[in-house]
Amino acid sequence: MRSACFRCWPRCDDLLQRIMVRSSPWPERRRQLAMTTDQPYVAVVGSGPAGFYATQQIIKKAPGCRVDLFEQLPVPFGLVRFGVAPDHPEVKNVTTTFCQTASSPAVRLLADVTVGRHVTVSELRRAYDAVVLAYGADDDRPLGIPGEQLTNVASARHLVGWYNGLPGCRSPVDLAAEHVVIVGMGNVALDVLRLLTASVDALAGTDITESALAALAESRVRHVTVVGRRGPLQAAFTIKELREQIHLVGTSAIWDGYPFHQLEPLLPDLPRPRRRLTELMVKSARSPRAAERRTWTLKFLRSPLEALGTDAVDQLRVGVNAMDGDHVVGTNQTELIPCQMLLRSIGYKGRQIDPALPFDAARGVIPNTDGRVHGAPGLYVTGWIGTGPVGVILNTMSSSFAVGKLVADDLAAGKQCDRVMHPDELVQIIRERGARPVGFPDWLRLDQAEEERGRRVGKPREKVVSVDEMRRIIWG
Ligand code: FAD
Ligand code: NAP
Repeated sequence: MRSACFRCWPRCDDLLQRIMVRSSPWPERRRQLAMTTDQPYVAVVGSGPAGFYATQQIIKKAPGCRVDLFEQLPVPFGLVRFGVAPDHPEVKNVTTTFCQTASSPAVRLLADVTVGRHVTVSELRRAYDAVVLAYGADDDRPLGIPGEQLTNVASARHLVGWYNGLPGCRSPVDLAAEHVVIVGMGNVALDVLRLLTASVDALAGTDITESALAALAESRVRHVTVVGRRGPLQAAFTIKELREQIHLVGTSAIWDGYPFHQLEPLLPDLPRPRRRLTELMVKSARSPRAAERRTWTLKFLRSPLEALGTDAVDQLRVGVNAMDGDHVVGTNQTELIPCQMLLRSIGYKGRQIDPALPFDAARGVIPNTDGRVHGAPGLYVTGWIGTGPVGVILNTMSSSFAVGKLVADDLAAGKQCDRVMHPDELVQIIRERGARPVGFPDWLRLDQAEEERGRRVGKPREKVVSVDEMRRIIWG
């Protein structure tokens, strides 16, 4: 791993020089350094749930430890702000705990600093005793089918980012489509289904962006088909989300095409959560509601093969599947599903932010064992960049607490990075490279401004969606 770190050195001459000055030929300088930095310092990269929960645990289990929390955007909280649906405000209450952590004197938020751009992971390892990578999974997985480049084929991730005010997803979403197809049957697909079919009145008092609300008010969407490649017993969404959709005012399900009654004999032997979810589908299919203004369908056993259309998509060709146990097998049959918008919702994907780090490009994760990055003492990974893009905040919390404890235990046992400079010196270098780190009190200025804007329109907050405007408000 050490040789891997050295590979990126030529890209950062200034740091190289500073590190060389502080290396072994200068024993006195090293002694001074040790004296000024006897408490351990940890860098955490990413201020989503994984970053905050790991930080919380580190400062609890390693008293005296200081944590610097790096975040690429000027605002903290990751998918709690930019992923969780606006009509699920109760989920966002986790930020209360995150704010307590960020307010601790042991923690320093350094937002608006991109690791991989303003500073490398290898550099962090030269200034901190431990580095925890918690930077999530912010790419999306393509379908890899012909026609995916057609107009109105997009990722659910983009739509989610758009209605949640993610700066990179500001380009408007065209909701002139009457029929939308969503590929993938996870909770993200159900979030998007709900947002596309809910009435604007139900969303008006949430923190959805005003521009998304205005576009949804003009939406022509009448029907949404959610396509899953496997059957109801393998659906990835959970009961709470399906129940919410089934009861959504002004919408009704069309339960066609799947013989739900055939599932009834299997119900007693299913594990409880799966049984309850399947019972809900069977029961709803048996007594469908009268057609409402907007309708939706769950289409099982269909794999996307090709998006068709001249400029814009107008049909999705799917292959009809059968199940062999939990595995899907193709048949020779295909079908066409008309649609004027096609959204892929088949999972997010992690990115590599430092070529010197090991990376599993196929899975989009940093390979690790229980959070330890292989062959790199003092380097850890937690959250979606370590586990892959699965799990709710509670799962992320458990794994990040475990990694936080691991970091504290390793620090106590003297297993750490070879630190040769003080974190403040590195932060100074980061500033010299053009970043202006946003601290927690700085973010609170934007937070208050957003809440104030929200109050004026009857919302908990009106998010600022442009990074430039965020900076203007933060720095005055
Ligand atoms: P993230 O939340 O993505 O945080 C990663 C952070 O790292 C981000 O702030 C990002 O900006 C930052 N970052 C990225 N790259 C860099 C870099 N190079 N330098 C510095 N910082 C960087 N769970 C629930 O329990 N309830 C829900 O209702 C719910 N809804 C969801 C809705 C959607 C659309 C999605 C996708 C997920 C949802 N989840 C929900 C799951 C939950 O969001 C995840 O479990 C959790 O956010 C994963 O945490 P994380 O910290 O690993 O990643
Ligand atoms: P997910 O739960 O993993 O679902 C992905 C879906 O895409 C699955 O149905 C999967 O089918 C399908 N899929 C994958 N590759 C495919 C392909 N090539 N072709 C066709 N279909 C494909 O992912 P997600 O919906 O992005 O959610 C991520 C995590 O966030 C989950 O843990 C979720 O629970 C959580 N989340 C929670 C909430 C909430 O609590 N309200 C909201 C949103 C997200 P297979 O099963 O066949 O692979």
